[in-house]
Amino acid sequence: MFASIALGLLGCVFLSACSGKSDGAPARDTAARAAVPGTSLSDTPATTSNSSLPASGSPKPPVPDEAARTPNELGRIPVAEYHLISDHDALYERERGHFRRDLEDIYARGYRPVTISQILDRKIDLPRGLSPIVFVFDDASPSQFSYIERNGKLEIDPQSGLGIWLDFRKKHPDWSSSAVFCMLPGAAAGRSFFGDKGIEGQKTEWRFPKVRFLHDQGFELCNHTLWHANLAKYSDAVVQEQIARGQLAIDSAVPGYKVRTFALPLGVWPKNRSLAKQGSWTDPKTHNVVRYNNEAILEVAGGPTRSPYDPQFNPLSINRIQAVGNDPVRTLDKLEKNGNRYISDGNPATVAKPVAPPK
Ligand SMILES: [Zn+2]
Repeated sequence: MFASIALGLLGCVFLSACSGKSDGAPARDTAARAAVPGTSLSDTPATTSNSSLPASGSPKPPVPDEAARTPNELGRIPVAEYHLISDHDALYERERGHFRRDLEDIYARGYRPVTISQILDRKIDLPRGLSPIVFVFDDASPSQFSYIERNGKLEIDPQSGLGIWLDFRKKHPDWSSSAVFCMLPGAAAGRSFFGDKGIEGQKTEWRFPKVRFLHDQGFELCNHTLWHANLAKYSDAVVQEQIARGQLAIDSAVPGYKVRTFALPLGVWPKNRSLAKQGSWTDPKTHNVVRYNNEAILEVAGGPTRSPYDPQFNPLSINRIQAVGNDPVRTLDKLEKNGNRYISDGNPATVAKPVAPPK
């Protein structure tokens, strides 16, 4: 029932990010909005529960007639942002049943997942009448992707975000694994490629295989810095180290992977904004120079983002919708109401424009 891979996986041999932050305890940002005591990252609580939850009844939204929707490829695209997938709803937590209902509801409304890379490449290849949505999972917590070890095999925990996603995909084969994971390789409290040091039962040596699994499934790998530094607080050198080492760790897990998307921790820009896009860092041990050049930068909020066909589309500032309360569904309602929803015409060669400009 669950995807499984054999044990005997790669050890942690590549880089300092393997042991978390190599030069001692990570400095921690403590923004005032950290909602939960004991928080070690300013946008994610330190603890979560793996306890399972009874499936709640999911209300079935009406299935619309997809072909009847008028194509509008200049409409807005929701980029939904999830943190912990847990046993209750909170500012940075989505209760599992609620997450499942989000998937059902969003699917029934005629949305299908795409990656940021697909938006960058203008490869939103959906059938006529369907709309793109981007799911982004931030911070690489075990709640998003955890393994259970059984008889020498690793199974994906069906209660983790990925387990729920893959189960949903099984029921809806046209729901692809086009989501985005914005990961930390060396943060505290298990926010290190989905768990380390036994935190929430996750072994350090499972980290790289998890990242590889995501890549193999077609998910996009996105950099979210090394340990979630509030980039406005640090020197240019530290900003570049944070971003370069985040990228380096992804490259260590999936050699040669080209990271294109970067999510700003807390949505906070570095003082020198250009360093969010481009910079370099020299590894003091090996003297290797790690360069990065991000093509897309994700903000933390701001509403649905512009279509890549919109002349004002700015890939270096892509707005997102936090999965808090009734969002992202609430935003989909608004898009429906104001007629500003991206709707595919089913033809990748043409860009369908609305007859009248959206309000
Ligand atoms: Zn984050």
